[in-house]
Amino acid sequence: MVPACCLLGAAEIPRLDEFSLAPGPQNQLGSFNIVLNAGSGLSGNPAALAAFSRAANQWVSYFSDPISIHIDANLASLGSGIIGSTGSVLLQVNFDTVRNALVTDAADETSNGIVGLLPTAAQFSTLLPSGFSYDGNIVATKANLKALGFGGLDTTFGSSDASITFNSGFSFDYDNSDGVGAGLVDFETVATHEIGHALGFVSRVDAIDGVASGAVGVSILDLFRFDGTAGNNPSSSADFTSKPRDLRPGGSPIFDDLSGPEYPFSTGLTQGDGRQGSHWKDNLGLGVMDPTLATQEIVAISLLDLRAFDLIGYDLAPVPEPSTWAGILGISVVGAFEWVRRRRASGQR
Ligand SMILES: [Zn+2]
Repeated sequence: MVPACCLLGAAEIPRLDEFSLAPGPQNQLGSFNIVLNAGSGLSGNPAALAAFSRAANQWVSYFSDPISIHIDANLASLGSGIIGSTGSVLLQVNFDTVRNALVTDAADETSNGIVGLLPTAAQFSTLLPSGFSYDGNIVATKANLKALGFGGLDTTFGSSDASITFNSGFSFDYDNSDGVGAGLVDFETVATHEIGHALGFVSRVDAIDGVASGAVGVSILDLFRFDGTAGNNPSSSADFTSKPRDLRPGGSPIFDDLSGPEYPFSTGLTQGDGRQGSHWKDNLGLGVMDPTLATQEIVAISLLDLRAFDLIGYDLAPVPEPSTWAGILGISVVGAFEWVRRRRASGQR
């Protein structure tokens, strides 16, 4: 079983344009909130509920968009090897509507000048497997569109932004404050990861992987997904606008915003490296959006995770005190060295 977020065909995704909804005022710093609607399996487990709340608060502490994200969550039996799964409410919107909202949202953020260089629909191109065509749309989670200032979404499409299921078949540790017990999976890390998908860390590569043909859109995160090999890898502002985005399973896709190092993505469950494309490359310690989690492993939101969410339209809260910032960086760096060496015993998330 794989997250339902990534398997919807374009025909099944509602079109936002049909509802005459437009972005509202942008860049209002306010109170970012995640509202949990717990199913009986989760609400009956106070320790799990508390861990989910801590995970949600990790995201809440970083973002300042004045929006509420509604997440249904439960503990239930999933297929073996799956720790958790997220189904997000997806909407498709014509390219320039979202592109222009991204540019407007980022306009007052000096570190996000690259967003202003996103191609227009007329300039945009993709690398796709044979049999596929680009349909001119951007597919986004409803949560992500809220962050971009689109209003009225809950009224039109229902209040739920995503549904997360944690596999009750896994042995979780619900309190990592004293470490994670032997043989146990850290519930808070899994919850943090799944919420990340709900917020918008998704790629349409997973809608293409394992399918023979079709017309597809791109996700917002896909706007920063390039082929890392020579010729298609952007190295200038002009390249960032003109180089095609890479939606092919397999290959060597990278996250590139021209600001520094490039970071690899996972390349596909079926035709790629065995991990869904809606993740960083496995086992490099890149952040909480890594596709796998070992027992006893705790993963925090990394600066790279935050950079991706910053670029797809979330407004970062004012920078924390330097000591806090340094602590975050420390966790990421130390983790990177441990994680690449560790054999991962557990499954997809
Ligand atoms: Zn995942």
